[in-house]
Amino acid sequence: MAQTQQDVLKASKEQCIFCKIISGDISAAKIYEDDKVFAFLDINPVNAGHTLVVPKDHYIVLPQLPDDLAMHLIKVVKYLSGAIFEMTGAHGINIYQNNGAAAGQEVPHVHFHIIPRRQDDNAMSPWNRSKIDPEQLKQIAEEMGKNLKPISSSTVKLSSNTSVSKKTSKPKRKGKPVKVKRRNSTNSP
Ligand code: 5GP
Ligand code: ZN
Repeated sequence: MAQTQQDVLKASKEQCIFCKIISGDISAAKIYEDDKVFAFLDINPVNAGHTLVVPKDHYIVLPQLPDDLAMHLIKVVKYLSGAIFEMTGAHGINIYQNNGAAAGQEVPHVHFHIIPRRQDDNAMSPWNRSKIDPEQLKQIAEEMGKNLKPISSSTVKLSSNTSVSKKTSKPKRKGKPVKVKRRNSTNSP
């Protein structure tokens, strides 16, 4: 029998370290809590004050969140990022949100990273950017635009390509892959 999205969520919830932190089964350095959201310090911080903000309900990736929960979560991220700016005296803040193993997600429970930064701290590698022909950009935008509707009438479904397991095979692409020229770079992958 095919696994439903609910089955996938239930199975991943049972082993979820962030659910165990939220329930108090595993301890964490909590900095904020309300009825829907929990925030605590990352156990391996990029810089002091590196915070994880998670919904209390278990969802794996951002597109699965009900809109009202997503809105509340981002509101808390906004509030905490301002507070963390002040509390840490950071010069800047990165907000990171990884979805799927291919994007670097290790814990299969939606979370935002709030990372305080100092000028020239070299705490994170810059992205490996590429060059692209402006015509190709236009074509990609047209192709993508065809699939997008105003948000009020859209529904969001978890793609079967999304996986948080590093062992799964490469996701199959729909349509032609987009080829871009890599710039010479010494950045880590
Ligand atoms: P991801 O790579 O999934 O975006 O980020 C997961 C984050 O969770 C990592 O930065 C990692 O250090 C953090 N993390 C993993 N396990 C624990 C834990 O048990 N406690 C805390 N506080 N953070 C954790
Ligand atoms: Zn969870």
